[in-house]
Amino acid sequence: MTDTDVDQRTTRAGGPAPVRAARRAEQLTALLQRITALANEATDTASALHQTVTDVCETMAWPAGQALVLDGSGELVPAAPPHVIDETGPEMSELLASASDGSGHPLARQVLDSGTPAWVRDIEREDGIPAGSDWARGWLAFPVVVDDDVSAVLQFVSVEQADPEDDFLQTMANVGRQLGVLIERNRARGQLEAVNTDLERSNRELERFAYVASHDLQEPLRKIVGFTQLLEQRYGDQLDGEAGEFMDIVVDGALRMRQLINDLLTYSRAGRRQPPMGRVELEDVLDAALDDLHVAIEESDASVTVDGPLPTAHGNDNELRELLVNLIGNALKYRGDATPEIGVSAAPHGDGWWRLTVADNGIGIDPEHHDRIFEVFQRLHGAGQYSGTGIGLAVCRQIADHHGGRIWVESTSGEGSRFHVTLPPAVHNDEGTTDE
Ligand code: ADP
Repeated sequence: MTDTDVDQRTTRAGGPAPVRAARRAEQLTALLQRITALANEATDTASALHQTVTDVCETMAWPAGQALVLDGSGELVPAAPPHVIDETGPEMSELLASASDGSGHPLARQVLDSGTPAWVRDIEREDGIPAGSDWARGWLAFPVVVDDDVSAVLQFVSVEQADPEDDFLQTMANVGRQLGVLIERNRARGQLEAVNTDLERSNRELERFAYVASHDLQEPLRKIVGFTQLLEQRYGDQLDGEAGEFMDIVVDGALRMRQLINDLLTYSRAGRRQPPMGRVELEDVLDAALDDLHVAIEESDASVTVDGPLPTAHGNDNELRELLVNLIGNALKYRGDATPEIGVSAAPHGDGWWRLTVADNGIGIDPEHHDRIFEVFQRLHGAGQYSGTGIGLAVCRQIADHHGGRIWVESTSGEGSRFHVTLPPAVHNDEGTTDE
């Protein structure tokens, strides 16, 4: 035998044993790296499992494989169609299909129950294993493990009748763990999405309910107010003093209820609308808000100073005007003994965002109420002390949400308050939104 003969022989067999082993180790490391990257990024479990099966088959030069996952009733079912190389023809697909007919392949079930890999060296000789073909000699199955439980099985058909090598088993154990992490993450994500969808639906239903209820309540209430006032006008002089007082209480209660219903309607309308967004000059929006409030400002002799100029943001003019009317209106309403001094300012808030602030020297808010005041109908004072229905700040929060921003307050009782709202930056080619 010449040297050349030796070379040809070893090359045909895949090189000398140490070289083959080194090459195999390299291939397995690369396989594990690819699956780890896939498990970190994939959002679709079924296609990631299928891709893994294909990758293992290609690395090992095996003709076919398939991923099985546990369904809700504890059965192993195919996660995706099998990977089968073309040369094997339909025979191999049939073989895999017969092994995944719902009852699960006996070997896959064994892996499911034991949590450890299993294989058959020669499927012709095994009971309960579908008959093989020229391509199918061995059958191997590996677990995908989530928290010590098997949640999927990868099964393969091999052309050789041999026990798998240790480093391959080790790699497949790691592959199983990586895929387990992926399955768990996607399951958690799926649950979160389902909860979010439920929450959005129930929010929509609630808003619809609030809208219908407040809309339909207006009519009977209008009658109560109208007819009680008519009663008072026409027959007021025939009633004694106490009856007149009762009448006043009824009218007062009905008017207050009308205010509540109107505010509830405002709140539910604000929740339902999706305002157009565009370029907003906050200076102009502030001017418009101060215009709306000029009577209250004059009456309270308040000073409103602007730490300007205010910037341009991305948003909706009407909503931001409503927000400023609510915040400055509250600053006027919840004033202390001193003449109200209100400051409006804006500062950069990172990534081009703005933080708009309305500060006052009013009665302040105890920190324990800082979250509660942004909820619907939450008030810290009785109607006798300060008028209102507890809707204004809830609407402000909806407006902040529409802008993708946040609203919060900094304050202590007796020390004035600072309300902050974050707003997105104006974008290139933004158009204005005023639709009045
Ligand atoms: P309303 O003013 O109709 O009660 P809001 O939702 O606007 O409703 O405000 C909720 C509560 O937050 C108010 O009842 C008040 O107790 C408190 N609040 C709001 N703004 C201020 C402020 N600038 N200073 C002190 N308290 C405030």
